[in-house]
Amino acid sequence: MVALLPNQQIRPEILALSAYHVPSAEGMIKLDAMENPYQLPSFLQEEITRITADAQINRYPDPNASALTKTLRTSLHIPDDMEIMLGNGSDEIIQIIMLAVAKPGAKILTVEPGFAMFKIIATYTNMEYVGIPLKPDFSLDLDAMLTAIKQHHPAVIFLAYPNNPSGNLFDETSLNSIIQAAPGLVIIDEAYHPFAEKSFMDKLANYPNLLVMRTLSKLGLAGLRLGLLAGRPDWLHHMEKIRLPYNINIITQLVAEKIMQHYDVLQQQAAVIKQSRAKLKNFLGNLAGVETYASDANFILFRLNNASQVFKQLQQHRVLIKNLDNSHPLLKNCLRVTVGTDEENNFFCDTLQTLLAKN
Ligand SMILES: *Cc1c(COP(=O)(O)O)cnc(C)c1O
Repeated sequence: MVALLPNQQIRPEILALSAYHVPSAEGMIKLDAMENPYQLPSFLQEEITRITADAQINRYPDPNASALTKTLRTSLHIPDDMEIMLGNGSDEIIQIIMLAVAKPGAKILTVEPGFAMFKIIATYTNMEYVGIPLKPDFSLDLDAMLTAIKQHHPAVIFLAYPNNPSGNLFDETSLNSIIQAAPGLVIIDEAYHPFAEKSFMDKLANYPNLLVMRTLSKLGLAGLRLGLLAGRPDWLHHMEKIRLPYNINIITQLVAEKIMQHYDVLQQQAAVIKQSRAKLKNFLGNLAGVETYASDANFILFRLNNASQVFKQLQQHRVLIKNLDNSHPLLKNCLRVTVGTDEENNFFCDTLQTLLAKN
């Protein structure tokens, strides 16, 4: 018996997929991944040292992460009558949701440009993917969305609020219309909630088909990998069956619980990041030939001539941002910069200004 080669054995949709690419950031000023640039205060670092030293890593963690869930419920104001499911990052939650609804022929609908993982996970969970273009100013095309909902009857609609990579909040009334028109689930992905003033969390009671997703990654705990889904027990009860046991490791449970007891620390850092965002946007907006877009997140999307070339030149000057040029027709010549410390932002701004003067 001659064994099959990998490309004869692997599903064709996986063969066609390229892995999510994470560029090396060694020695770089890292402004590409929407991380919070700040460390924790030393009193928290010390408490974490103690907690992790004592952690019983020889034992499996609490499968329900009960203590952490309770702290999250309080600090993030999750409504009492809503259930919470935790994920190893919200990426895992997206995967759980899609696995739960992926009947043959089931569709997922979202907007483009949008968060890349929606399409990647849809592909390997065998869901049919429908991406509806945003308007050129990255606002929601409500008519196109409502038409697509009628045509495709999506099992699930994913909408990031604020959107990644554009950074804007979609119009709230339009989102309400979409939730009302949807025949299936609507997930509002609030990954950037710490930097925005708005949320659909308090609308969970109004809509039986709404779920709200959050993550601690952009808030400052990207390394811990913790996301959460909030919604009605009748939905989450079934999702829970797909969640792998012990998906939240013991270190994440203990450390995230401790830090979320001091949620104000992270909120203050988010407030600083929002101030830096305003300064950065102002600077970029005043550069000749640069167009910036409104952001309610911890990054700024901007457009300029020869974006791919500028991106490479920035890299040569040790500044890593995200190149979105050629990733979608609406993103021609677009780059995305994460808001870092003022020092990092200034280095980026000075470097960019110098490069533009030379080009
Ligand atoms: C970063 C991001 C996520 C994923 O976050 P993790 O919790 O780190 O997996 C989800 N949705 C959007 C829109 C994001 O930008």
